[in-house]
Amino acid sequence: VESEKCHLHDIIKELTPLLWADANLRGQTIEVKLDDSLPPLLLNAKEIKQLILNLSRNAMEAMEEKGQLTLETKVADQGALLLVSDTGPGIPPGQREKLFEPFFTTKAKGTGLGLALCLSIIERHGGKISVDSAEGQGTTFTVFFPLL
Ligand code: ADP
Ligand code: MG
Repeated sequence: VESEKCHLHDIIKELTPLLWADANLRGQTIEVKLDDSLPPLLLNAKEIKQLILNLSRNAMEAMEEKGQLTLETKVADQGALLLVSDTGPGIPPGQREKLFEPFFTTKAKGTGLGLALCLSIIERHGGKISVDSAEGQGTTFTVFFPLL
């Protein structure tokens, strides 16, 4: 894996026009909240783009019109957090353990590979991913990246 010292915010900023185009078509909005004191990280930019796109697309696909996708960064102990949140229907408790398994999908034409790929990208970066979801309110995927 080719990782370089880089800024997560640069990757997010590069993707926002693409995400906005997608959101506009769906009648959804995007909020981006970046923590200015976020440290640089050792990242494979190509993989991290894929990660953010996969999480964001899932969020948008889960939401109706007027839904809001939020991308947020936060400083954490010994690392940085990326939070991808939506205002969709949430994930039933029984499904939360299966999300990262290859081929788990609830979509008619889903591949079920998006989150499995996200998990492998995060593991290659020495990070972690967790999910918080409240039925009828939304879902947040939180990615932890360790410091360089
Ligand atoms: P796919 O998108 O092809 O279904 P993924 O691995 O990306 O495959 O996602 C697996 C499943 O996880 C989805 O089918 C959906 O049921 C659930 N999921 C993922 N993200 C969300 C989300 N933000 N809100 C609700 N459900 C989600
Ligand atoms: Mg997906």
